[in-house]
Amino acid sequence: MSVRPVIVVHGGAKTISEDKIAANHAGCRAAAEAGWQVLCQGGSAAEAVEAAIRVFESDQTFNAGFGSTMNSEGEVEVDAAIMDGATLGWGAVAAVQRVRHPISAARRIMEEKPRLLVARSGERFALEHGLEMCAKADLISEEQYQEWKEEAEVADRPNTVGCVALDVNGNLVAGSSTGGVTGQPQGRVGDTAIVGCGLYADNRLGACSTTGDGESIIPVVLAKTAIDALVGGNHPDQAAQYAIDTLIDRVEGEAGCILIDHQGRIGWAYNSQDMAIAYMNEDLSEPAVFTGKEQPLAIA
Ligand code: ASP
Repeated sequence: MSVRPVIVVHGGAKTISEDKIAANHAGCRAAAEAGWQVLCQGGSAAEAVEAAIRVFESDQTFNAGFGSTMNSEGEVEVDAAIMDGATLGWGAVAAVQRVRHPISAARRIMEEKPRLLVARSGERFALEHGLEMCAKADLISEEQYQEWKEEAEVADRPNTVGCVALDVNGNLVAGSSTGGVTGQPQGRVGDTAIVGCGLYADNRLGACSTTGDGESIIPVVLAKTAIDALVGGNHPDQAAQYAIDTLIDRVEGEAGCILIDHQGRIGWAYNSQDMAIAYMNEDLSEPAVFTGKEQPLAIA
């Protein structure tokens, strides 16, 4: 029996200023549409997650791939990971440069042998597997460069991205991609590349992608905390809220997470000012997109 597919994407838990709402909206919609195209043609959740995140990684509105925030040395170093809920297979890269689509490198690693490849090792893997490479500077957007040069204290820094998808075969996959935190020291790696923290997927329960302060997400193992909260049939909204409440109770910091459970129900929660989210299923003619708390939480 085929399952009703569903996809949820996020563009990060942050403050989104008025002038960035339209771009966040458009980017989330485009990412959800790209993933949905894959799912409604019977493609796998892994393909859908990769397709959605590649859209984000090409859009300088978001802190992933091109347009990522810059580290203390004025360079972009990116992290990405993907996890398959059928096999618990996973793949990740961290602190890599010159890789145009880090999520594609993570997926190829997952297919070959689950592991986390950092820096030159991740770059070498991508090169040897024919993935698109670029000059280091090609991942830097003009806006990020200007901010870095001026050391501007801007409220609406670009946002980490993620995606969870359920395909027609009932497989759940989660993926996340980020440029990390502005001004971070070279080689700093947050939660995004770490299974259990930045993402988790298990077909028995659900799939989760997180965003926010990596140093706070890691100690509460945010994605796995959210997935574990689905046990007993809890709704993904409740599970997501439980995970964020855990973070608030136990550590300081801002974060958000999106979830799909094994029944295809969706949910999310965040304690940041805003979080850009879109989802798509067979009942909709186009993705539903949200950027702020004032909008109703939609439950599929
Ligand atoms: N989670 C990312 C990191 O800590 C950053 C973010 O989501 O804003 O690297």
